[in-house]
Amino acid sequence: MPDKVGEIDSTIAAMMMAALQSGHVGICLCDETDAVRFVNDAFRAAFFPNAPRPPFDFVDALVEAIESENGIQLQTMKLEAFAPRVRERRRNGDLRYDFAVDMYDGSWWWINDHRMPNGWTLVVASDVSRAKNEELKLRAAHDAALRETRTDFLTGLASRRHGLERADAALSDFMTARQPLSLAIIDIDLFKRINDGFGHAVGDEVLVLFAHTLTTLLPAGDQVCRLGGEEFMVVMPDTNEELARLRLHRILLSLQPLSSRHVNATVAFTFSAGIASATMGDSLSALMRRADDALYAAKQAGRNTIRIAPKNASDAA
Ligand code: GH3
Ligand code: MG
Ligand code: MG
Repeated sequence: MPDKVGEIDSTIAAMMMAALQSGHVGICLCDETDAVRFVNDAFRAAFFPNAPRPPFDFVDALVEAIESENGIQLQTMKLEAFAPRVRERRRNGDLRYDFAVDMYDGSWWWINDHRMPNGWTLVVASDVSRAKNEELKLRAAHDAALRETRTDFLTGLASRRHGLERADAALSDFMTARQPLSLAIIDIDLFKRINDGFGHAVGDEVLVLFAHTLTTLLPAGDQVCRLGGEEFMVVMPDTNEELARLRLHRILLSLQPLSSRHVNATVAFTFSAGIASATMGDSLSALMRRADDALYAAKQAGRNTIRIAPKNASDAA
């Protein structure tokens, strides 16, 4: 009969120890006083490269490593708070505790603490830097994609979708704050003629110039988006319809013709706008419909002008 360690064959036990000692998974075994009794090379190198031979205090060794900028990187926690917290968790926390830590050298480790019935703790640590870096890359790509859906690619203004989201939020604020809120829909006049006469690229230049004009001349609190084509929306918090009209009128008067990069011509253009102010219980679609009706009235009146929507249906009669 071969020797046995508990129920395990001594050859297997020896191989297991050899594998644990040299493997890339970090292994650390602590007794009930949290003294390290066994630690393999991978764990030592990552968490406390300068620790003495076991036994030594587990938490003291972590702290000593952190002080010399090795091992775990404490993000926001103070070092003084770290040691008592870890000691308390290891004494009285869950028997099984899984968590991630990031290290001074930029690596990420996934830790499994397993407390045994006799109070000893087995700590298994795996280097998950590659997975973590993939996650961070994915998150960056996700953020970039989100930014793209929020931005109109031609003008750099907020996209229609993002503009509508922000308008909804502004309308909710209006309902609670009860400050006036105006919404304008702006449409460049006879834009098709610009495209037809000078080409689509020149039309694009007009759109970019106009977007720039809006963002530079409107106050920072006004939300500008491109609804689509040559149509824009401006949401003006704390602004009644008369002030909104003055603001847009000033822009109408200060429009400069485009000096095109593409053709040897200057291209003058105007816009028409419809303004509606929010009322209690308004929906965004109702508010936009009123602004759109006022825009239609401005077009009917000959363009290059601004119309305010009547407050409600009875005013219109
Ligand atoms: P109105 O004064 O009644 O608004 O006349 P309009 O010519 O401006 O309106 P219409 O809706 O007939 O034409 C809008 C044109 O805008 C048609 C479309 O091809 C063009 N357009 C839409 N999106 C873009 C774009 O991104 N770039 C360019 N260059 N043109 C666009
Ligand atoms: Mg138009
Ligand atoms: Mg249009």
